[in-house]
Amino acid sequence: MPNFDYDLFVIGAGSGGVRACRIAAGLGANVAVAEERYFGGTCVNVGCVPKKLFSYAAHYRDDMIDSRGFGWDIPESSFNWGTLLTNKNIEINRLNRIYKSILEDNGVEVFEAHAQIVNSHTVEVAGQHVSAKYILIATGGWPWVPDYRGSEHVLTSNDVFHMETLPPRLLVVGGGYIAVEFASIFTRLGSETILSYRGDQLLRGFDGDIRQFITKQIGHDVTLNLGTEIVEICKNNNGLRVSFDSGNELEVDAVLSATGRTPLTAGLGLENVNVELSANGGVVVNNRFQTTEPNIFAVGDVINRIALTPVALAEGQIVARALFSNSFDAMSYKCIPTAVFCHPNLATCGLTEEEALDQHIAIDVYTAVVKPLKNTLSGSAEMAMIKLLVDQSSDRVIGLHMVGPDAGELVQGFAVAMNAGATKQQFDATVGIHPTFAEEFVTMRAKRKDKGI
Ligand code: FAD
Ligand code: NDP
Repeated sequence: MPNFDYDLFVIGAGSGGVRACRIAAGLGANVAVAEERYFGGTCVNVGCVPKKLFSYAAHYRDDMIDSRGFGWDIPESSFNWGTLLTNKNIEINRLNRIYKSILEDNGVEVFEAHAQIVNSHTVEVAGQHVSAKYILIATGGWPWVPDYRGSEHVLTSNDVFHMETLPPRLLVVGGGYIAVEFASIFTRLGSETILSYRGDQLLRGFDGDIRQFITKQIGHDVTLNLGTEIVEICKNNNGLRVSFDSGNELEVDAVLSATGRTPLTAGLGLENVNVELSANGGVVVNNRFQTTEPNIFAVGDVINRIALTPVALAEGQIVARALFSNSFDAMSYKCIPTAVFCHPNLATCGLTEEEALDQHIAIDVYTAVVKPLKNTLSGSAEMAMIKLLVDQSSDRVIGLHMVGPDAGELVQGFAVAMNAGATKQQFDATVGIHPTFAEEFVTMRAKRKDKGI
């Protein structure tokens, strides 16, 4: 049996990598990790956490406006981008230190350096070669920008967390999570914001009714430029001149390209081993997260399955347990709840109506569009929507979708019920909490008549 420096060498101290390190070390493994940029990875530094802090900042603007109908006379207020940025940086630095100490306190050896795989048991890091019985690739992803003339002028989500000033005129490009969230945020912080997307409804992949509804809601606060793509961006004395394939032109101060992310495998030394990549650039793994090189594993965004922090955490944990405690719980990708932190929030769990129909599941559909009680006095035009899909044969709720205040917080609880197999009858038998928006989920009686199988 050869002697290795480590039982497990993890490349990348983001969500998946840190979780795998912590669990493996807790199970007695001798673990090392390499992190070349920031502890905590994308989520902590340029993702979920700073984004949510920006989203809170944006909500204050709505709250101040809404409060007038409730009698508050708020004097003219102004927003200071510098203060938000400074306070955000302090909090993120604090989290960076916590993530590093989680690793060190668990006895993980930390290399603050780029790591490259040399062969199936060897990694080059900080100028030395170290050996490991197992290697885990947890290197995450990186923003991807389409190639057109002037595309070098765009910002990506990595940049918006460090902009020195708030752009007075901002063009956000894309119709996915990042585009929709940041358009909602920056329009409220004071940028005149245009959201440009090549399709006609935002958030492809989400339920069709929900997409239609959220596109309309976002359009109340953000100018939508749909069904068109950028062909060129030119820099001039006034900012950036953006030309679209529709023939339209726009002048803005900044362009945020939120056009997707690709797995980060460049410079990882994969050419030195037999690790296969899929057509979309993700590391190919089996259900144990084992690559085509048997002692090399991969989790998180780099495998390009579902790019969410809790998914990377769960995958990292499964690998560590499987390797060092011989317990294997297969990862289930069914019924993973997710939220888009736009305004209003959107959250969902389970199947969309389109997926249910594709899978030939006979469903009953329940929908409701309501004006949240708060908006009766606030005067806000924002509406809320919920939708339930119920499997006719089992009565189980197999799809739950919501657009409305705090949807992310609400749907988490319903996801537990759905994963436990809750039926519509059990939803209906549950007493509501009044007056809340969430009680709508347990009071939906009328099936939609028009669609379904
Ligand atoms: P990462 O967290 O990206 O970690 C990978 C780490 O590996 C990085 O720290 C990187 O520096 C390091 N690394 C890479 N290559 C090397 C190398 N060769 N050597 C050493 N180190 C290396 N998800 C949610 O669930 N909720 C949200 O609200 C949410 N918001 C998001 C907002 C934005 C703007 C973005 C971009 C993403 C968001 N996500 C959100 C997605 C989430 O951030 C990712 O799914 C998650 O961070 C993936 O974790 P990971 O461990 O796979 O990779
Ligand atoms: P998404 O995949 O969600 O969206 C990418 C968008 O870019 C889509 O609207 C896509 O259009 C568009 N696009 C792709 N290629 C082109 C092109 N060549 N020209 C024009 N438009 C193009 O990626 P994001 O970058 O928004 O986010 C990456 C991932 O990070 C998300 O999928 C999600 O998993 C995660 N994330 C999660 C968040 C959360 O949990 N709240 C928040 C932010 C990110 P089309 O739809 O037509 O293909």
